[in-house]
Amino acid sequence: MSVDDLLRNHGLKKTTTRKQVLDIYLNTDHALAVADVEEALGDGVDRVTLYRTMGTFEEKGLLHKVYDDDGKLKFSLCSSDCSSHQHHDNHLHFHCRKCGKTTCIENVAVPEVEGLEGFDIQDVYMVANGTCKDCIQAA
Ligand SMILES: [Zn+2]
Ligand SMILES: [Zn+2]
Ligand SMILES: [Zn+2]
Repeated sequence: MSVDDLLRNHGLKKTTTRKQVLDIYLNTDHALAVADVEEALGDGVDRVTLYRTMGTFEEKGLLHKVYDDDGKLKFSLCSSDCSSHQHHDNHLHFHCRKCGKTTCIENVAVPEVEGLEGFDIQDVYMVANGTCKDCIQAA
């Protein structure tokens, strides 16, 4: 899927920042915090525009939030069935404590939470922490 197709499919106008940010996500295999995206974009990126772009992407179903024990909010590219109405990113995330990378494990679904009567659950996050394959192989 190209950057242009992704923007069009999610009803977003093409802007330089949107295209640049999506391009970064399409070329990475792990979650990125806003600061990581800012660094990848280099000088000349307007921070306010960047934050707004990330927010729009989250809202429109292009990026989903990823929480890990780094304590930094990160974002990861959504699967193709996310839209502005609903995210479907109820999968496990793996956080490597060696390299700090967090990746989507899309074939492991977060289980339904049961037995919390009277509560309104909006999000459930499941993170596995440990050492990733790359770090194990490099050791
Ligand atoms: Zn999503
Ligand atoms: Zn690692
Ligand atoms: Zn994910």
